[in-house]
Amino acid sequence: MIITVQKFGGTSVSDEQSRRHVLRHIVREHKTGHGLVVVVSAMGRRGEPYATDTLLDLIRDNGNTLAAREKDLLLSCGELISAATLTSVLCAEGIPAVALTGGQAGIITDASFGAARILDVQSQAILQHLSEGRVVVVAGFQGKTEDGEITTLGRGGSDTSATALGAALNAAVVDIFTDVDGILTADPRVVSDARPLSVVSYEEICNMAYNGAKVIHPRAVEIAMKAGVPVRVRSTFSDGEGTLVTRSETVRSRPGWTDRTVTGLAHVQGVTQLSVVTEDGPYDLQLRVFHAMAANGISVDLINVMPNAVHYTVKEIDSPKAIGLLRELGFEPRVRENCAKVSVIGGGMNGEPGVMAKIVGALTNQQIRILQSADSNTTIWVLVSGGDMAAALQALHAEFGLHLESYGGGMGS
Ligand code: ASP
Ligand code: MG
Repeated sequence: MIITVQKFGGTSVSDEQSRRHVLRHIVREHKTGHGLVVVVSAMGRRGEPYATDTLLDLIRDNGNTLAAREKDLLLSCGELISAATLTSVLCAEGIPAVALTGGQAGIITDASFGAARILDVQSQAILQHLSEGRVVVVAGFQGKTEDGEITTLGRGGSDTSATALGAALNAAVVDIFTDVDGILTADPRVVSDARPLSVVSYEEICNMAYNGAKVIHPRAVEIAMKAGVPVRVRSTFSDGEGTLVTRSETVRSRPGWTDRTVTGLAHVQGVTQLSVVTEDGPYDLQLRVFHAMAANGISVDLINVMPNAVHYTVKEIDSPKAIGLLRELGFEPRVRENCAKVSVIGGGMNGEPGVMAKIVGALTNQQIRILQSADSNTTIWVLVSGGDMAAALQALHAEFGLHLESYGGGMGS
């Protein structure tokens, strides 16, 4: 049996009207005779009655006092309500359907409540329902431990439920339905001529997601990549094909695609740059600094290490603690607050000369200073001041021609 997984995000299932659009996609797929597994998120956003953040607000007045285990019980309800409600929509249309919790769907996790890792997917129950002709609606974002404890997978975890099921069921495709037309070359709120991409590689979208693009959870992409399951990111509210996420070889075998050096831009705001510079400082400067950060659970980024200096960034919320730790070590760090990390991402930049020169050129032209940079074979990161972020993204978008249809836009091409 050919199996398709469709995942619908919170805004897609939030009300009667949006659920009509969801129904349209389910009916279309169901008619093909494929086995269909539908994964849902909780309905709507904060303020709407059963959204994940609304559920969290229920315990806010108690100072959020609730053990992680019970918090997961609370959080899991959003997706359960959503799955049961959508199942009712399907049954009312005469489509045989069944709703399953993550655990009932066979998603087995470790016991890290609130951020559980999927250990196994036992797909017999789903396969049984599919063989009996039912659409299987699975509550996303949750699983159960071997002992039957309910767990959640971390915020945004419904994408992970979908690709994990897709991988276990060897699905033909996992469709991630959301409220945008696919993956865009940049955030359209900052770059007005950002375009949807017709195809990206797993590595590219993973980099975009880790670097601030919010369209799909990076862990979900990693699972799909490992299993080689194609993913499409597409809109619930249109019939567009969206963006296909697949292996980089597949992307680059498409006519014309070998020319694409840069695929898209991503950004993260609220970053603090810390620099510790010592004249004839201790020989173990780096060790002391990074040990202190690690021991206190502070994640560090954009790390540049030199003999007498270290430069790195931390998230704004971690910065007072990081500064305090450095002072305890006897260092007086130089602190630059309100920075933004801009990522230039493209599977085609590997070994391609001149990419950094173009980045520097575009930013210098706008009198934007690069405060720090780093690179990998698919990404170049530059740190700029927060006030320069929008101009930097716009300049880079134009420099690499990302607004042009020939450059990876052009849906369905
Ligand atoms: N409802 C969960 C969240 O808001 C999971 C998800 O939507 O993916 O994080
Ligand atoms: Mg999501």
